[in-house]
Amino acid sequence: MTATLRDIRLPLALLGAQHGFDGVEAQGCLRGDALFREGRLVGMTRAAPTPQGGRILLPRLVEVHCHLDKCHTAGRLDAAGGDLAHAIERTRRDKDNWTGADLRARALTGLEEARAAGCALIRSHVDWGDTAAPPLAWHVLQEVAAELPDMTLQLSALTGVDKMADPGFAAAVAGNIPQGQSLGCFVLDHANVDAGLRNVFAQAAARGLALDFHVDEGLSPDLNGLERIADVALGTGHEGPVLCGHACSLIHRGGAEFARIADKLAGAGIAVALLPMTNLYLQGRGTGTPTARGITKAQELVAAGVRVTIGTDNVRDAFCPVGRHDPMRALELAVLAAHLDPPFGRWLPAVTTDAARALGHAPIPLSGARVDDLLLTEARDLAALIAGAPRARLTAASLRREDRR
Ligand SMILES: [Zn+2]
Repeated sequence: MTATLRDIRLPLALLGAQHGFDGVEAQGCLRGDALFREGRLVGMTRAAPTPQGGRILLPRLVEVHCHLDKCHTAGRLDAAGGDLAHAIERTRRDKDNWTGADLRARALTGLEEARAAGCALIRSHVDWGDTAAPPLAWHVLQEVAAELPDMTLQLSALTGVDKMADPGFAAAVAGNIPQGQSLGCFVLDHANVDAGLRNVFAQAAARGLALDFHVDEGLSPDLNGLERIADVALGTGHEGPVLCGHACSLIHRGGAEFARIADKLAGAGIAVALLPMTNLYLQGRGTGTPTARGITKAQELVAAGVRVTIGTDNVRDAFCPVGRHDPMRALELAVLAAHLDPPFGRWLPAVTTDAARALGHAPIPLSGARVDDLLLTEARDLAALIAGAPRARLTAASLRREDRR
């Protein structure tokens, strides 16, 4: 069976193999009639632009970093505001409310937002407790993940790196994580960072788990967890996917020091997640209006060959009282927070193909993508796409309707 979507734009940064794709190239997109065969996008032919045409087609999105156990609690929390330490403490108190029903309902609300945003793959962190046994939230979210008909939910255990310095604790935590999921920890100003990191990497390597770190989530120039993670990865020859979120203190590293750290990250194949929402809310706090912004050096990391992804992080909880699960919205905010200038095509992999790679999944480029792996948007240019133009998942039925237009 064949079908044609008339007058479509395909972002070149997401196209993949170009064989069979012939269109007019402009502003980072290839424009023409998109051809489908046997349920896949297989080519493009040149065609005259139409007055109402030129809509952008893109792969479904990837959310690299969120917290479905914490999300949508803001409405019941006491006085809002405060820094990272305040958010952690307020969340600790709220955990008395985390029953199975509460966790499930809030997670499903978050996932509905992700579905509406066009997500195919989502990584959610899950706060681990003081014991090695999984918390209730881990069990509930595993159940939710197994029931999802149309999205892949990957879970990542969020432990403290100081606790993981105990090899027995690290092994017991990792032993509870099924293959295909992720092991992670919080690396800030903890004790025993290097011992904790060595254990975390050893467990991930032994069990084939992806790794994910909340690292240097602060603006103190003394934070250096990012380089220590890269050192362990390089020292052990680690081959699995490693994603480092936040890395705010990298803002203080310049010149040879930045180049050294970025070289290590690139050499180890470590990806960095830019998380503008939570960072802008929690970092640089004093009294009144902030004078510093919490964001990592995305432009410089990309220039140094480091894979950069962009995620939503916290949604309407103690860490960030606003937002919704939508990676495109996170990208829009990153444009402002990190001065990600046009042309915008180069930043689309951060919420699609490169984001999938960072989670250890195969990327889905446009070329050869299955119909239901695609989003048809109302955007006629990349700025409109990032600004939130309506997007909907393509289906065999909607493709048939479009084919007759
Ligand atoms: Zn986070």
